[in-house]
Amino acid sequence: MIELNYDSCFVLYLFAWFLVLGVLWSRELWRQNVHDWALSEGCVCICDNCHSAFLLKPGETAARCSKCNEMCTVRKRY
Ligand SMILES: [Zn+2]
Repeated sequence: MIELNYDSCFVLYLFAWFLVLGVLWSRELWRQNVHDWALSEGCVCICDNCHSAFLLKPGETAARCSKCNEMCTVRKRY
């Protein structure tokens, strides 16, 4: 049978904790990749008149502002 003294038990305990932390960390990284979402930049329109931002439907390039009813177009970023 394997003899365990206090030092080897402590090292084994630390190793188990690092293993648990590594598993939880990799699980969190996996969850961020799976459940991560980002708003596409082409769908955000910022009004030139009142500087309010609102969402456009995908494919739309122009819409009326919801606050001031000004005609707004999506600017392309370079
Ligand atoms: Zn506006």
